[in-house]
Formats: sequence, structure tokens, C-alpha cells
Amino acid sequence: MDKRSTQTKVKVVVRLRPCLSTSEKTFVSVVGNKVQILNHRNIEENLQYEFNTVFDENSSQAEVFSTSVEPMLEKVLQGQNVSVFAYGPTGAGKTHTMLGMTSDPGIIPRVIQSLFEAIEEKQASALNGNSNQAPQFKVTFSYMEIYNEKVHDLLVSGHQDLPIREDASKNIFVADLSEKSIDKYETFMNHFEPAASNRTVAATKLNKYSSRSHTILLLKILRREPDGKEMRGKLYLIDLAGSEDNRRTGNKGIRLKESGAINKSLFVLGEVVDAINQNQPRIPYRNSKLTRLLQDSIGGGCHAVMITNIAPEERFYYDTYCTLNFATKSK
Ligand code: ADP
Ligand code: MG
Repeated sequence: MDKRSTQTKVKVVVRLRPCLSTSEKTFVSVVGNKVQILNHRNIEENLQYEFNTVFDENSSQAEVFSTSVEPMLEKVLQGQNVSVFAYGPTGAGKTHTMLGMTSDPGIIPRVIQSLFEAIEEKQASALNGNSNQAPQFKVTFSYMEIYNEKVHDLLVSGHQDLPIREDASKNIFVADLSEKSIDKYETFMNHFEPAASNRTVAATKLNKYSSRSHTILLLKILRREPDGKEMRGKLYLIDLAGSEDNRRTGNKGIRLKESGAINKSLFVLGEVVDAINQNQPRIPYRNSKLTRLLQDSIGGGCHAVMITNIAPEERFYYDTYCTLNFATKSK
């Protein structure tokens, strides 16, 4: 069998957020699974982009979760690795999609809730069935960021520049990264919320920093069957750096090293996703910290989804246009 046929494609979906301003014109509309950029500027015709899944401005957090993320959770519980990332320019809804608010929770709280529900169900049904013992699950999480090609642990203070390593079984890990054990939703929130809200405060103070860093939540699940068999799954939930940093990468004349405006790992992520989805034999994982970290969690047999966030107001015209072109190229 051709080894390359084992690559599982990275799914690319699009989410348009609602218009947040009553005074600004909009230029984007969603019709079924197509996104249209309406007749605008020097472009004569409406531009149209088609995807398998497009969430329009009325889509709910629940809908995005149940369509794009929930089906992959079972895979994590069976020992597979899964990645979810939110891509798009600053202000287009990445953090809303991944984190949301207490009143309107996004993917992260929904994942935690569902994971523990699924674990309880599995244990209950094993005990109700013929087997006299249920599988045991151990769940841990880590929270980190990559900024300027450096990995920092967000569960401890200060910037540490932690190294990424690979073990003998080709598992990728961050050395010395802290891990918290969690046994229910509340335990997770107790550890996660202070770290996440510290970050949000810092982010508003220093917008440029936050828009240029990737915020990464890693969940690890160890499942031990009554017969001793073990399965280890990882789930990455990633709020990527703003893609507006990346616009000049479309310009062939500019080399990565020479332009401070380019977010290298975002650019490489695009190349990695393209290479996976085009079944190329060589995937350039090692060209950035982010993709190196994700080497065992996208491509191969791993399931991944990129949620592409776009905004409808005029001032997002160029960002939305670039983002849709990136997403189309990657799908
Ligand atoms: P990003 O993380 O991509 O910079 P945010 O998630 O912070 O963007 O979103 C920018 C603003 O838009 C925030 O005020 C957020 O609450 C709002 N927003 C984003 N997506 C939605 C949505 N689907 N519905 C309502 N408001 C949204
Ligand atoms: Mg954000």
C-alpha cells in the first residue's frame, strides 16, 4: 500500500462572525456552504469560496462544537491524537470560538464537559454490561504559548523558552512543561481560569503581543482497560496568532527571515496543512516550533480541523480576502 494514502486530511471550515458595528458596511455573505465577497473595489464580480462546512453569522457556539469538534472526541478517548485550531485575523472571533464567555461558552469548556461525560458513560456502561470492571481514565492538561519561536508555560509565571523533544516512540513533548491532573470540569476550571484570565488582561494591555502568539491548550488522556491495555490520546486546542501578520507571505519576493511582520510558524502551518492535504511525501514539520510540536498530532492518522474565522466589516476587507484565499488553498 502507498504509505502516503494514510494521511488524514486537515478539515477546513469557515465561521463568519456577526457584524459588530451598526455604522459600518459589510461585504461578506454566506449562502449555503459558500462564502461570497460582494462586488467591491476593483473586483468586478462577486468572489465565491466553497467549503464543506461554513458557519454563518447566526451560528451558535453549540453548533460549531457539535459539528466540528465533538465527533473527534471519541478518537482521543481511543488513544488517537486530535488537533483543533482557530485561524484568522485579530478581531475575527478566534478567542470567542475557542474560549467564548461564561454566558456563551466556546469549544474549550464544551470539550472538557463532553470529555468527562463520555468517560462517565463508558465506565457506567462497562459496569452495567458483562465485564465486572470499567476502564480507568487519567486526564491531565497543560497550557502554553509560542511567541517568537519560543515555548512558554502559561501555568507558571515568567518566560521559560522550553525545548521541544521527541521520545523513542516518536512522541513529541515539551520538556519541563507543567501538567495538572483533572477529574472533572470544576477542577479544570479552577486551574485554567486564572491562567486564561491573566492572559486576557495581559492581551488587552499588549495587543500586538497577544495577536502574535499562539495559545495552546493540551489535554492528555490515558485510558487503562481492565486487562491492563493502555491507550494514550492527545487533544490540542489552539488559538492561533492573528493571520494579519502573515499577509506578506503571499509575496514571493520577501524572505521569511527578512520580515519581522511575518509570523513564521503561521506561515509554516499553512505549508504543513497544504502538504498533508495534497498527500505530499515530505511534510515540513521541523520548519517551526508550532508545527514541530504538532508533528504527532496533525497528518498521519491524526484528525485535525482548522476553524477559519472571518469578519464582515469593511475594514476587514483585505484580511478576510487573504484569510479565505489561505483557507481555500489549504482545504
Ligand atoms: P480574535 O480572538 O480573533 O482576535 P475575538 O474572539 O476576540 O477575536 O472577537 C472579537 C470581538 O468579536 C469580540 O468582542 C467578540 O466577543 C466578538 N465576537 C466574535 N465572534 C462572535 C460571534 N460569533 N458572535 C458574537 N460576537 C462575536
Ligand atoms: Mg483572540
